[in-house]
Amino acid sequence: MPGASGGNTEGSCEALCRTLVSQNGLQRETADISQSVLYTSLMGLLLVTDDEKEQLNLGSGRVGLRNIGNTCFLNAVVQCLSHTRGLRDYSLLKSYRHEKFSQDEAKLMEAFSQVLSGLWDVNGEDRVVNPRQFYSVFKEGVPYFSGYSQQDAQEFLRFLLDRLHTEINRRPYVRRTGKELEQKYAKFRIAEEAAAMWKKHLERDDSKIVDIFSGQLRSSLHCSVCSHYSTTFDVFCDLSLPIPKRSSVREVTLRECLDLFSQEEKLDKENSPMCERCNRRTESTKRLSIQRFPQVIVIHLNRFTTSRWSISKSTVYVSFPLTKLDLGPYGPVDCGPVLYDLYAICNHSGTVNMGHYTACCLELKGWCFYNDSSVTSISENQLQTNQAYVLFYQRSNGTATVRK
Ligand SMILES: [Zn+2]
Repeated sequence: MPGASGGNTEGSCEALCRTLVSQNGLQRETADISQSVLYTSLMGLLLVTDDEKEQLNLGSGRVGLRNIGNTCFLNAVVQCLSHTRGLRDYSLLKSYRHEKFSQDEAKLMEAFSQVLSGLWDVNGEDRVVNPRQFYSVFKEGVPYFSGYSQQDAQEFLRFLLDRLHTEINRRPYVRRTGKELEQKYAKFRIAEEAAAMWKKHLERDDSKIVDIFSGQLRSSLHCSVCSHYSTTFDVFCDLSLPIPKRSSVREVTLRECLDLFSQEEKLDKENSPMCERCNRRTESTKRLSIQRFPQVIVIHLNRFTTSRWSISKSTVYVSFPLTKLDLGPYGPVDCGPVLYDLYAICNHSGTVNMGHYTACCLELKGWCFYNDSSVTSISENQLQTNQAYVLFYQRSNGTATVRK
């Protein structure tokens, strides 16, 4: 179940049962099947899955990527995704081929899978993978990336996940209509409204990418004139966090960035949306919170500020926890702790125009530093630098699931 990882085995089996029942149209035939029968057949399925996993004869993953002309942004992001276990296994097992939802060929997914096969090749160590084929397929779909100039890793990550999702979307033929999203669920409580919006999202957009990376953001708006509250929900694949600006301080914590992100923001008339009750733009306050937590949360430290004339980069040191990042305080009221562990970092060094991207990823034997074709071990105390740009956190097992 997307965004609801964790829980005990029975809990997740139950969830899987529900998913299977709803996805495979088993509903009619198995409506009165006993739970134990379903459980037994499910265990069989799980065993099959484990067998499949064993067939995945993985190398160490300590394989670099060739820089084919200003492509360090691509190399760093691919290494981070290559260490996103759920996505890696899905790609290597070529599960998208079995899913076959769209008639169109999953060209980018195939090319991505090809790169990952090279990176996890059992005999791959001391070799370097060339991402040229993958990059050219990507550029075909996103011509914006065609130039040879420095590209933004975060932007690339967003485009890449979006393109992959489109190719492996389990609902490829459901049309989106803008109006639908505007529908109001005034009679529901917040949680039900959020769940209804999420369900609507899955009716159009449902893929392994969504399973892993998508969460739901809640935006609460409060009109300063009539005190009317309204709530909107948006799906996110990453959180882009502002870095607090205080001239005297050289170091901030990730928590401070999260606090700034979720703190109440005053909007003047021009920037406020229409108040439903006043029926005009009014001064209002806005607050963001996480309504549904993803399995993997991608945190983008927004170091680049675009002003009218130029782009500047913040080199403030942002400290972040390697384990047990608790996002509970930014979730629904009383949701309890929601813990995440870090497994990959995409770094940006240098300036806006002359920069370089690298990645740090957690391997079975510890952390590795990926600098294009070079891969070296790195100790935990070398991970935190003022170059950290995108952080990849995996929800840790055994934490309480979020209450609805
Ligand atoms: Zn109002």
